[in-house]
Amino acid sequence: MAFPSFPSLDALLFSGKLSAVAKRTRDADDKAKAVTQVLPARGMRGPRIVAALLLAAGAVAVLVYRKAAPAPTRRTNVLLVTIDTLRADRLGCYGYGRAATPVLDALAARGIRFATAVAHAPLTAPSHASILTSRTPLGHGVRDNGAYVLPEGVRSVAEDFRQAGYKTAAFVSGFPLTRRFGLDRGFETYDDRLPRGSDPRRTAYVERTADRTSDAVIQWLDGTARSAAASPAPWFVWVHYFDAHAPYEAPAAFAAGAASPYDGEVAFVDSQVGRLLGHLDSAGGPRTLVLVTADHGESLGEHGEDTHGIFLYDATIRVPFILAGPGVAAGRVPTTVARGIDVSPTLLDYVGIEPKGMEGRSLRPAADGKALDDLPSYAESLHSQLQYGWAPLHALRTSRFKLIEAPRAELYDLKSDGPEVHDRALEEPVRVASMRAELQKIMATTTPVATRAIDAETAARLDALGYLGGGGGKNAPAPTGRDPKDGIELVTRLGRNGMSVARTEPLKAIRELTALLAEDPGMLVVRRTRAVAYESAGQYDAAVRDLRALEKEGALTAEDSVVLGDSLRLAGRTKEAVAVLLATARKNPRFAQPWLSLAAVFVAENRIADAAAAYDSVLKTAPDQVEALRGLGDLALIRGDVEDASRRYGRILEIDPADPGALSKVGVVRVRQGRAEEGIELFRKALEREPRNAETLLYLAGALAANGRGAEAVPYFERALAAAPPTTMALNGLGLTQLGLGDRAAAAAAFRRSLALDPRQPEVARTLAEMGGAEPR
Ligand SMILES: [Zn+2]
Repeated sequence: MAFPSFPSLDALLFSGKLSAVAKRTRDADDKAKAVTQVLPARGMRGPRIVAALLLAAGAVAVLVYRKAAPAPTRRTNVLLVTIDTLRADRLGCYGYGRAATPVLDALAARGIRFATAVAHAPLTAPSHASILTSRTPLGHGVRDNGAYVLPEGVRSVAEDFRQAGYKTAAFVSGFPLTRRFGLDRGFETYDDRLPRGSDPRRTAYVERTADRTSDAVIQWLDGTARSAAASPAPWFVWVHYFDAHAPYEAPAAFAAGAASPYDGEVAFVDSQVGRLLGHLDSAGGPRTLVLVTADHGESLGEHGEDTHGIFLYDATIRVPFILAGPGVAAGRVPTTVARGIDVSPTLLDYVGIEPKGMEGRSLRPAADGKALDDLPSYAESLHSQLQYGWAPLHALRTSRFKLIEAPRAELYDLKSDGPEVHDRALEEPVRVASMRAELQKIMATTTPVATRAIDAETAARLDALGYLGGGGGKNAPAPTGRDPKDGIELVTRLGRNGMSVARTEPLKAIRELTALLAEDPGMLVVRRTRAVAYESAGQYDAAVRDLRALEKEGALTAEDSVVLGDSLRLAGRTKEAVAVLLATARKNPRFAQPWLSLAAVFVAENRIADAAAAYDSVLKTAPDQVEALRGLGDLALIRGDVEDASRRYGRILEIDPADPGALSKVGVVRVRQGRAEEGIELFRKALEREPRNAETLLYLAGALAANGRGAEAVPYFERALAAAPPTTMALNGLGLTQLGLGDRAAAAAAFRRSLALDPRQPEVARTLAEMGGAEPR
């Protein structure tokens, strides 16, 4: 059975060690698209991850085959829950007949709910900034997602709580709230660890599902409870759930019984809020003041809008506002309109902290059953202007009427026309004029708190739009450009046939996006999305051309810069890639992605120390950034430092015990430490989560084969070969294993396939020749 002249497994498989691996990495980048389509964690960041994986794969294959080694004495705790994209009218307590929201309904029953609550923007970051700072977007300066950082000097309610001796912690679940946008201000703990995700339609790290967010909060609460004996400080915790945001894909148990996929997500979040509240109850201790609200709703097709972000109708502006806990009467439904900016002063009021310089007011009198007049509420969306080059929308809402300022202004009587389908602007010119005057006054007199401190990029952006500079007049509505009402069909097409398929069906996306640009060349977001599609389609030069044009116009965002850097790298223009990514990283020091992309360039260039330094830069601002930890673990494996590798991957598993990549790599470490059985177990666990991960399948096959379990290994080699384009590594491994099992025909077939892939494998050719008698299958 033994072949005396058989070359060592090492030599056969990886004679070139690291340099050969680095070459393979470059080859892999050339074929980036093909490779990313077969790896489970695909997406636009795929090629970089592939590079790191291949490096580690090389290292592990070598080692596998080498076979080496409310209490009265303290103040009340405060829990603020924001449920992203939650329409008030989809909750049972707000009258929805098909709701499956027992937890929030019960919370409203044991506390109060404001019949009408409104947000100040239909966008995650601006609206949350209003909730936390008690300022409208005019005051806090965050005007859109992704492009604005909360300016220095804008105070967050978390700072008020902290100053009053509270422990402060936040747990957010969506990309627009990650720490780089500044909403972490005042929070001692800011948990924005978003798992990589495996949805190929989306970029990596956009969302954490509600179950995992609740896990993290409960873990923190338990830790806090343990240390409470030493320092019995109350806490202020903000929990943000992102699930109701599109795409709507609730766990099967919730999707099955739901009236719509959106309702399924809402039901899932409701159950996870229930888990959290149940934990608070069972943990005992002082009772907790709980406030549940949302940053905005969801249009669900109303007014032609699929999701949210453009319009200011109640479908996206009206949100729930539920309050319960110590001092809150049960079952009351105040009719005073609650505004996003009222959240913080209300919370502070209940725990006896004096609010400082807030635009909003405490709603506690209304909650206590006293009459409280409505105050006008301002809302805006600059998204249509910033992303589409159209007119922005500004709105003023009084207790009964809403004026939406646009090229064609709209007026709605909310009392008789909740769905806002009968525009009364032409019938009531006098009311329009008086509300317009009031709106303009608000816009003229609300000045950004910290204009001077806005970072240069933000300032330039606002200035270009006329939002900064002398006099309040500049802050007035500028009804130029397309009325969003007239462009919503283009937004829908962009969403359905562009954004959602840019990564999965890039050629289709490119066709549709090019058609959209022919209709409206000013739509910046279409150009951005098309660049992503070009990159996904492997048309790197086209992506670079479009992004360089955006750069010239001063419209390149940090995210765009990363796509540009990645495209340059994949096009082989390494020097330019490094220059772009380094500049982006330095300009946005809290943004992990440019550093991660830089690390990928360095890995491909075999500049291991530079790659490690880039990963370290990420950890400086985000010590738990999973991809940086993973990268450093992979580099440690390459160096042969299993201790360091073990530490890095172990940290990932503390953050997410089911992270399949880390399970797999810890498996590699165990095999390398001579603990093969543990390694095999870990590979199996990783495969439970990602059954078609070719790399893990190969590790498992290799570990089994190297430990005398060839017959068990064969099916895993075969699964690895079926899960991804065949590699010589997998084929040679299969061949050797078959040889060990005495199946010379099968072994010869595998070696022949391997040689067909790469004829420059003299050892494989010699082995095949020595096998001589084996007949081809
Ligand atoms: Zn949102």
